[in-house]
Amino acid sequence: MAQAELRQATGARTGEQFLDGLRQGGREIWLHGERISHPLDHPELRAAALSMARVFDIQHEHAEEMLAPSPNDAERLVNVTHLIPRTREDLTRRRRAFELVAAFSGGTMGRTPDYLNVTFACFAGRPDVWARRGNGQGATNLVAYQARMRDNDLCTTHALMNPQVDRTKPEAEQAMGQVALHKVSETADAIVVRGARMLATLAPFADELLVYPGSDIRPADGRYALSFAVPIATRGLRFICRDSYSKQRDAYDYPLSSRFDEMDAVVIFDDVEIPKERVFLDGDTIGYSEVITDTGWRGHIMHQAFTRAWVKLSFALGLGHLIANTTGVVRFDHIQEKLGQIWAMSELARSALVSAEAGAALDEGGVMYPDDRPLLALRGQMPKWLPYCNELLQLIGGGGFMATPSRADLDGPLREHIEQYFQAAGAGAERRIRLFRLAWDFLGSDLGGRGELYERFYLSDSWRMTALAYQIADKSFPESLVEQFLTD
Ligand SMILES: Cc1cc2nc3c(=O)[nH]c(=O)nc-3n(C[C@H](O)[C@H](O)[C@H](O)COP(=O)(O)OP(=O)(O)OC[C@H]3O[C@@H](n4cnc5c(N)ncnc54)[C@H](O)[C@@H]3O)c2cc1C
Repeated sequence: MAQAELRQATGARTGEQFLDGLRQGGREIWLHGERISHPLDHPELRAAALSMARVFDIQHEHAEEMLAPSPNDAERLVNVTHLIPRTREDLTRRRRAFELVAAFSGGTMGRTPDYLNVTFACFAGRPDVWARRGNGQGATNLVAYQARMRDNDLCTTHALMNPQVDRTKPEAEQAMGQVALHKVSETADAIVVRGARMLATLAPFADELLVYPGSDIRPADGRYALSFAVPIATRGLRFICRDSYSKQRDAYDYPLSSRFDEMDAVVIFDDVEIPKERVFLDGDTIGYSEVITDTGWRGHIMHQAFTRAWVKLSFALGLGHLIANTTGVVRFDHIQEKLGQIWAMSELARSALVSAEAGAALDEGGVMYPDDRPLLALRGQMPKWLPYCNELLQLIGGGGFMATPSRADLDGPLREHIEQYFQAAGAGAERRIRLFRLAWDFLGSDLGGRGELYERFYLSDSWRMTALAYQIADKSFPESLVEQFLTD
């Protein structure tokens, strides 16, 4: 049973309470050939664990904006991102909570717990969708689980996509159907699942893994149509991490990589037992699509995702602006144009969020659903905008990103030389180097490269999402403008 279920519900946790959860063993995390059950004790995972703890502390530091009574117990305060929004004000309040968390890492940590808090809050807001075709028990399980997630302030990760064996074929026809996550058997109390899923960001730091739909499934392939929650510390559940990009260096050298590598892992299910009360969907291939399309997940997740993206665009603008002023290139009009482009992207993102909230309406389940049109437009553009910002920052900073000695050099015998030869018009050498190192960690280090890949793919790819936006779009007004000239 999950540690969180054994504890009395705490409501919003502090960083120390989050770390206490991590100190419980039993995880099977593999990194560079080593099994890790206590991520806090590992040099390449510790720093991000401490950063996650800060995320939990932030909600107490901004309690007035970020906490509200639990629907189950008015005495217990929970994070507002766990709450099902019922009014436009709820959406605005929730956006502010996303913003405060994203600001802490300059938007570079994409999978802070608010991402899945929002997802499960919107799922729980529409039990009617989950209950379709006789899945009443699955819907009840989901609502109960979300209440537990909310009241215990669980930190969760998720894994939606099956591995890349052959993307042209359905799951059942790839590698004899054995690689993709599937159900193999069932007992009176549990289902048993086997296979793998990619990727689960944050896995070493999470309490639980959430599995829900990420792609369509053929009607004949019911054993792949699964949704459930399982504690990370469960027998047979293994996580194989990529290389760590965490740098155990002075934060001056790697201000982001020394703190914010949220880690990505492939999940292996080696005949894992999932208790039935934790199963939300089992075999319903139609429901597998509908719980994504009909619960409002799309609009709610984009509300979180593009608030973080807006913060990240603002961070990129701050970097470009300060770099350009440091080296004086801000006086060149093409540099101003590049800064203006970053500003325009951030302002369009902010406007889309405000517009989505202003146009929000109650859905059939009484949940306040953001107007998803401006967010859908961003969903196609953002995976292009954020990588393009990196290109613009390179063009603004030039070779300065390489004129960046380390803290050790500054503290060494060449300090006077460095102060003389690395000075800039707008800053002394120490500040100039620090700024350029920060920007390089944002756009060019291992972590920066991973961040760019993340932006391109974490909400599916730009091409398919732009096509989806076109398919969903109301084309009646554009059509009518043309039709008036095609009829007598
Ligand atoms: C850093 C990072 C972190 C992530 N974290 C998580 C996480 O925590 N949880 C999670 O569930 N997922 C996570 N993801 C996975 C993410 O959901 C997927 O990367 C995304 O859905 C794209 O799928 P894919 O990577 O399998 O690429 P693929 O689907 O294999 O696509 C590769 C290329 O082929 C093209 N392609 C593939 N299929 C088609 C098709 N049918 N038609 C046309 N073109 C096609 C794509 O456009 C793309 O260019 C993460 C991804 C990254 C990069």
